[in-house]
Amino acid sequence: MIKKVFVATLLLLCFFSAQAGGYALRIIKSGESLGLLANLYDTSVDSIMRVNELESELMYPGDKLKIPLLDATGGISELAPSPPPGFVTHSIQSGEALSTIAQNYGLSVEAIVGANPDISSLDMLPVGLELLIPPSLGLVVTLNQARDLIALVNLNKLDPKQVLEKNNIYSPNNVRAGMMVFLPNVKPSESLERLARVREEENRYVWPIHGRITSYFGRRNLGMGTSSFHSAIDVAAPTGTPVAASRSGTVIYAGWSNRGYGNLIKIQHAGGAETWYAHNSKILVSVGQYVKQGEIISRVGTTGLSTGPHLHFELHEGGKAIDPLSYLM
Ligand SMILES: [Zn+2]
Repeated sequence: MIKKVFVATLLLLCFFSAQAGGYALRIIKSGESLGLLANLYDTSVDSIMRVNELESELMYPGDKLKIPLLDATGGISELAPSPPPGFVTHSIQSGEALSTIAQNYGLSVEAIVGANPDISSLDMLPVGLELLIPPSLGLVVTLNQARDLIALVNLNKLDPKQVLEKNNIYSPNNVRAGMMVFLPNVKPSESLERLARVREEENRYVWPIHGRITSYFGRRNLGMGTSSFHSAIDVAAPTGTPVAASRSGTVIYAGWSNRGYGNLIKIQHAGGAETWYAHNSKILVSVGQYVKQGEIISRVGTTGLSTGPHLHFELHEGGKAIDPLSYLM
């Protein structure tokens, strides 16, 4: 407990001491000793005495002492690099899932989320995204203000000494706004809750446009005894009507199709399902782009084999077209 107070005090020093020329100025409080200060600042009693030309270790509350920071570290120590110490980065490759990445590093998905609490999804992350890989479970927080660290340590009931060690913080001067700090063993609860909601949404489909269904999924009679299989629903709408992504996912095709689809967009969703949007007059997304459910991806048109402006909407699961109406409410 006493240790906790000491280290918290250490963190506070950056606000209550002015630093000049490699010294922290410290106003002595009741009960403080040179030994304590030396310990706090990772320096020696001797160097404090020398710098302040003290003849004895006796101090009184209100005394102002210079604490030689440079003696302790051999130079102004650099900011803890971001990411925090012990972290590596991993660039997401095509086909990789968070679970496999976590497994490869011997970590839990929770730990990966803790190191990357702002990721947009558990399932659909863009190829090339740089993930931080932590040494263990914990939460990475970027400090808005240096003093936030104290609040975070208190809020999460952490051992301040452990936090300082894990982040290579040897002096209060190492704590800066904008710095990434690792809070060991803190679960990324807020992120996990948000990502669970995202996952739920990513698994639902919404109507890409609203309009009259002019052709349903299934075999359709072409007259004269002929028929063909319509692997989509067709929804009529004026040319230029915005088309929305039915579900969040990554664009895997965006361009002209020679198979009658005209301007075609294919989006791949978590779990491998795909939605296809055909006959567009205009494509507004590109391959590799992650789109959120409801995001406008194109405009209705009549390109390709089409008899009038409409959206031809296909839903594929397991590589097979299924009836989108069974998923659309
Ligand atoms: Zn169609």
